[in-house]
Amino acid sequence: MITEEIKGLQVDDHKLAEWDKKHFLHPTSSIKQQQEEGPALIFTEGEGIYLKDIHGKKFIDGLSSLWNVNVGHGRKELGEVAAEQMSKLAFSSAFATFSHEPAIQLAKKIADITPEGLNTVFFTSGGSESNDTAFKLVRHYWKLKGQPDKKKVVSRKKSYHGVAMGATSATGLKPFRDFTTSLAPDFYYVESSPEAFRAFIETEGADTIAAFISEPVQGTGGVHFPPKDYFKEIKSICEENDILFIADEVITGFGRTGTFFGVEQFGIIPDIMSVAKGITSGYAALGGVIISEKIHQDLIDLSDGLFMHGYTYSGHPTACAVALKNIEIIEREDLVANSKAMGEEMLAGFKWLQQEHDIVGEVRALGLMGAIEIFREGNERFAEPLSPKIVAESLERGLIHRGVIYEGADTLIFAPPININKYEINKMINILHDVLSVVEKNID
Ligand code: PMP
Repeated sequence: MITEEIKGLQVDDHKLAEWDKKHFLHPTSSIKQQQEEGPALIFTEGEGIYLKDIHGKKFIDGLSSLWNVNVGHGRKELGEVAAEQMSKLAFSSAFATFSHEPAIQLAKKIADITPEGLNTVFFTSGGSESNDTAFKLVRHYWKLKGQPDKKKVVSRKKSYHGVAMGATSATGLKPFRDFTTSLAPDFYYVESSPEAFRAFIETEGADTIAAFISEPVQGTGGVHFPPKDYFKEIKSICEENDILFIADEVITGFGRTGTFFGVEQFGIIPDIMSVAKGITSGYAALGGVIISEKIHQDLIDLSDGLFMHGYTYSGHPTACAVALKNIEIIEREDLVANSKAMGEEMLAGFKWLQQEHDIVGEVRALGLMGAIEIFREGNERFAEPLSPKIVAESLERGLIHRGVIYEGADTLIFAPPININKYEINKMINILHDVLSVVEKNID
């Protein structure tokens, strides 16, 4: 029976919408919008690059949900491996050197696929925990090395590193920091140039700086990647000054950019790598911090007590079993190569949109991380960003993607599952073509 509508949700769903409004405080959402309109969509199923909502409407998941569903939705074998592990040993602790096979096997697998010399992993439940772990770890490391004053962590403007206290404090995007009033101490942000980093070191003193952290490709900030040599220069500045380099591979890891890890695009090997998301393609909550042999050896040689850091779910057996199967799928289906090839298709599609539409400015992509800048003719941004309208129109037409409007940006960002095919890329581009045509027509 349909008697009432809450913005697209019919009375059958009325109860769900009401319960959502009353009981579910959503992450990174507008509370006002939720109270006025109820949940934007209620999803029930996923298959490949598609999500289906409670009304049976299909959507292309153009951001792999949260840049994480790398192998696509509906992978039965991931469900099966989770069920098997849960029935056998759903959970056991990894504290006090207790161990279990899924975590050991996954740690070994990660050592095999990560760049040379990154061979030891500390497990977490997600990206924020990974980065907070990395920040504590680098400070602990320098303390063991007799340099407890090396504690500053330097990140880049426009960076995103998560929402735990350390991760928020390291995030260069100000709106995320402004959510709260006081942050963790000793976090600093620099412009994305080697000169800016050098100047910072000059001012603050290398003996006060523990680490530099960067996403190989900035995701939440709007899919930005630096010139090819930027990271090489940063890495050598780090080496000259005894500063550890942390690569935040939470989005870029596990095939997203067309190589297994984002740093491979830039020819560098970091000292520490944070991972999450694509490690399980979102089928279970898992993250990790992978450290170099050198750091590991120093920890072994210098440790004077317990490693006083550990989450209940560090090395969750079920999550680790899912991750192992997920990595097996990525390798078996050659999805890293597919990400590279389909990334080129997507970029070609963006370039075609650029020719067809005056409001499309710069377009860019690295593997299946891509962005379209929205501009007025003559390269000037619209006074009111157009991306919210574009995103809403896309949603109507069955395409989910995101608009970035932080700090004056007006950017559309995309990261579809890395098992996407050519036909599906074209479908995405065609929807965008229709959407941009409609939005363009309505510009006053
Ligand atoms: N680092 C980066 C680069 C991210 O994109 C994210 C999440 N979008 C995080 C860290 C935080 O990860 P999580 O949400 O799993 O805590």
